[in-house]
Amino acid sequence: MKPEQSANSYAIGEGKKYLLITFGCQMNEHDSEVICSVLESLGYSAVLTAEEADLIIINTCAVRQKPEDKVTSLLGKYYALKQENKELIIAVGGCMTQQEEAARYIRDRFHHVNIVFGTHALPRLPLLLEAAINYKGTIIDIDEDYTGREELTAAHSSTFKAWLPVIYGCNNFCSYCVVPHVRGRERSRHGEDILKEAKSLAARGYLELTLLGQNVNSYGQDLAGDYTFAGLLRDMNYVEGLKRIRFMTSHPKDLSPELIEAVRSGDSICEHFHLPVQSGSNRILKNMNRGYSREHYIKLVNMIKDSIPGVSITSDIIVGFPGESEEDFQATLDLLKTVRFDNAFSFIYSPRKNTTAAAMREQLSHGEKEERLQRLNEVQHAISSELNLQLEGSTVEVLVEGPSKNNIDMQTGRTRTNKLVHFPGSSDLTGKLVNINISEAKTWNLAGVLEGENS
Ligand code: SAH
Ligand code: SF4
Repeated sequence: MKPEQSANSYAIGEGKKYLLITFGCQMNEHDSEVICSVLESLGYSAVLTAEEADLIIINTCAVRQKPEDKVTSLLGKYYALKQENKELIIAVGGCMTQQEEAARYIRDRFHHVNIVFGTHALPRLPLLLEAAINYKGTIIDIDEDYTGREELTAAHSSTFKAWLPVIYGCNNFCSYCVVPHVRGRERSRHGEDILKEAKSLAARGYLELTLLGQNVNSYGQDLAGDYTFAGLLRDMNYVEGLKRIRFMTSHPKDLSPELIEAVRSGDSICEHFHLPVQSGSNRILKNMNRGYSREHYIKLVNMIKDSIPGVSITSDIIVGFPGESEEDFQATLDLLKTVRFDNAFSFIYSPRKNTTAAAMREQLSHGEKEERLQRLNEVQHAISSELNLQLEGSTVEVLVEGPSKNNIDMQTGRTRTNKLVHFPGSSDLTGKLVNINISEAKTWNLAGVLEGENS
């Protein structure tokens, strides 16, 4: 189905070029693929530099302050471009601009911005663009009406792997997090629609799908019936042609034994859980409103490891949450050593407007947070290296993603457990499943040699 458009907006991009810049998580990357599809249906074609573009769109992230600062700095740079080309349209969308204060700030501070739109406005993009061509002020659309969003298709940037959203929004209101404020309440897609899309992608040659949601484990709770995420995974496993099914993110409070069993028994379901713990201190977990204890988390991890041999578990950690004492931080370090994550993404706590944690009194200094981040990373890096070292000499299946950024004679891909592997090989292997014998383990990736093709 075509995005919402008036008779006039149909070809407004004919002969015009767009640049799309994306910040943030996988859901934002997926939204950007939807934006590309909308723009291309209007006739726009993609370019890689701002200087060539008739339309610049920035898809923003609001989870931490840093990506927001990058957006304002970019907008500052585009002022000169707009002076040179008055016809240039600049649009800013996504999680940052879904917040009313940020939307107004951009309108008032950056007069050269034509459109400010939120996370729900993608179906209205053609109308917004058409309006911006005729109106010189800033147009704001941060309406929470998402009618038509599900019917929009994505212009996938890869021909062999794709994102597949299964649930939008979040109901959890972790005290530090802006996501529920900018993405709205949980909305599960109907199982039949997801499976239909999966089958269509598989028929077009896609080998790997990543099922997306802020909390995939609460999938289905807002739908009639008792279809769960585990049930969806079991059905996905039978979609012909799909070799790898991934999912993220799993919230520890809703992770069920049924889900672990679905991963264990499903041949195409990858042996990887991204299971953000955030902190190892029960006091902090409670103040974060996470809904589980350290003990429950460790029990889950043990269940996963006992059921699924060779599974990898990754996590997200926040350091310097308000009131985090040295003892709380030690509890997090101790949890890392107990669980031994394959990898953990660590973040310095960043106060976000309208969240309860931002109003908590005991905010830590930036110096303290930085120092804890470094100590945490040292512990985690040693664990990641040790776990990777165990893979030396073994053969792993890799889906080749293309030439390595630094050396075109090297190919890069990922194991089923989501580890990055580099190996010497030609670029015609891109999109293929190959077997790689691991010769060298590093902290962040593995290096190996090609044993043969697998598909
Ligand atoms: N829905 C996912 C995560 C979404 S945000 C989940 O619940 O796990 C991705 C990660 O960003 C979070 O896991 C958390 O570690 C981090 N994050 C979120 N808000 C943050 C904040 N205010 N400051 C620092 N890190 C934050
Ligand atoms: Fe944010 Fe918590 Fe929802 Fe994840 S589960 S998006 S961290 S509120």
